Amino acid sequence: MITFSSSFECGNGKNFKKIDNNRYRCEVIGDKKVYCYYFCFDVENTSKKMQSFAIEIWNDPDIDDVEGFISHFPTTIWVSTSDGKRFHVLDRSFCLVKKDHIEISITLNPGEKRRITNNWPCYYSETCIFLKKLAWERKNCEIFIVGKSAGNRDIIGIKTGKIGKPRILCLAGQHPIEFPGIWAARGIADFITSEIPHAEQLRQNFYFEIIPVVNPDGNVAGRNCFTDENVDLYQVFGENPDEKEPQSTEGRILWRWATNPPADLWINFHCYLGWRTNSEYPYDGWYQVPYDTFSNTEKRRIYSRLCDTLRLLTDAPSTSIEPEIHWQNSFEHQLAKRFNIPHVFYEINGGTAGPFQSMKRGLNVFMQAMKTFDWCLKR
Ligand SMILES: [Zn+2]
Repeated sequence: MITFSSSFECGNGKNFKKIDNNRYRCEVIGDKKVYCYYFCFDVENTSKKMQSFAIEIWNDPDIDDVEGFISHFPTTIWVSTSDGKRFHVLDRSFCLVKKDHIEISITLNPGEKRRITNNWPCYYSETCIFLKKLAWERKNCEIFIVGKSAGNRDIIGIKTGKIGKPRILCLAGQHPIEFPGIWAARGIADFITSEIPHAEQLRQNFYFEIIPVVNPDGNVAGRNCFTDENVDLYQVFGENPDEKEPQSTEGRILWRWATNPPADLWINFHCYLGWRTNSEYPYDGWYQVPYDTFSNTEKRRIYSRLCDTLRLLTDAPSTSIEPEIHWQNSFEHQLAKRFNIPHVFYEINGGTAGPFQSMKRGLNVFMQAMKTFDWCLKR
């Protein structure tokens, strides 16, 4: 027999059923239009003979956005090793993209179990352990908890550097299963607490606070977009961009973190999936606000230099040579408008990035941005 399960941290998939000989079907669990593409489930061969079969993966009928779902494909499908610790890329010939669903072919030996996903998961629980280990081993940084999520989980980060120096905030996981952003933030936490001379120098000149998983409940539940309160933390001000502060639990916590006292730089990582036919590898992307969102001319200048940095010194333009424009209800827009806080907002393509590539590309973004920012402050 072939059995399926998504009842684990970061799991996503429902209505698993056998629809024919050697053919199974499941649906993803979506949050809203477009944000309805992620899946991550275990499949096990409990029979005594080898089984080859197909798994059809369909969009969530409760969201009913077939186009939004299929626009994320083709992309890399990751299949775990038998111990579940790592993932390998499933050869493209074993994944067909049809007009309204995808189809994965797989062979399992008797007793064999694999985890199959379209985004290599970065688990909240492991990330907490990772951060605590850094703090324990390196002694040059501390754990901080900025608040509790609606589901009562710690929103946990690591801080390092010199208090009183410019305050750099780095975050990921607003959209919880955009794991490459989380891998990137973890890589930055690793780098900035390392003994690499450039990291030591940055710790002398800045104060860093890094939160890799700002939406822990969504991460654990394997959600595409929302928190436990069904809030999109990217469009955090929802219908009311000019409201004093966001209304959601995590939104309010992050707004206060960013503004009290006001940060000097906000670095945010997201992710999307899909190899785009109109673009170049590695299909990353970035967002900006119009420069005149900044009323302070000096801060506007710093921001435009950061934007040039993203365009010229990172992979950001590999999907499109123009950045996307931030929604007015985003942190980025409101922090720029109300507090003149510049930002870096980068999208890593999960179709071309597992943990290693995500860290590498995220670290490059961070280092290039910090080089520019440091230069701006010295002059
Ligand atoms: Zn996102």
